[in-house]
Amino acid sequence: MAMKVQFWGVRGSIASFNPQQSRVGGNTACVEVQSQGVRLILDAGTGIRALGDQMAQEPHPRATLLFSHLHWDHVQGFPFFRPAYLPSAELTLIGPEPLGARGLRATLERQMSPPNFPVPLGAMRAKLAFEAARPGQAIELGPFRVTPFALPHPQDCLGYRIEADGAVFVFATDVELSAAGLTPEISRAIERADLLALDAQYTPEEYAGHSGPSKKGWGHSTMMDAAQVASALNVRRLLLFHHDPSRDDAQVDAMVAEAQRVFPATEAAREGEAVELDNLTLRCA
Ligand SMILES: [Zn+2]
Ligand SMILES: [Zn+2]
Repeated sequence: MAMKVQFWGVRGSIASFNPQQSRVGGNTACVEVQSQGVRLILDAGTGIRALGDQMAQEPHPRATLLFSHLHWDHVQGFPFFRPAYLPSAELTLIGPEPLGARGLRATLERQMSPPNFPVPLGAMRAKLAFEAARPGQAIELGPFRVTPFALPHPQDCLGYRIEADGAVFVFATDVELSAAGLTPEISRAIERADLLALDAQYTPEEYAGHSGPSKKGWGHSTMMDAAQVASALNVRRLLLFHHDPSRDDAQVDAMVAEAQRVFPATEAAREGEAVELDNLTLRCA
């Protein structure tokens, strides 16, 4: 039995689609993690809609939703998450401190309020429980041990180290990180992960401002920083995540190829891709 990680949305900032993006996908952040019949969902970007349509076929849809932060590309899919409207569904929603449980609920209520949206959160008939995640405080969820950790990003963000079945998956989206700037807390959270999904929105040229405004302080990493972090922290496989909405498949391929020069076990996270983790192998479906 191995933990399985499935990507439903890998795009950053805003959903995007054109035919040149069809291999990587255009939906915003949503990742499903399963082990022993227990399901976690990381973020509720637009990718959560298709996951919800599949879950709605189950007699009793259940999941724990862990939010990294509440920027719109991480919450915008929630009003279209069908299980939330089903009385048979049970959902636990975990909001990052300092917003916590109440802040998460209030934010989701606001985005479902007139004039932005016609259906209120109160119309959701699932059993909804709201809880909080605090950096450094591990949460036990069935077979999972989930440890949140703080990431530098405007309005803050949480990464999640997820351990189950003898394997480790680390989800670290929306973070401006470099190997030189690693704190002991972030290093501990990422080191020796079997699979690391890490923000790699920009190229070093974009970050430095060689094409358009400098992206310093915008809260996102380059693919070269991601590769250096993965290498420094003895990660087994790196998936570049939070692809820029303007990026087409060929450009993502080029970024992967450059990152592989620093960290050979680098790929791009792709919508629809599933990765099985066990002690020995990672399999991409
Ligand atoms: Zn984002
Ligand atoms: Zn963000």
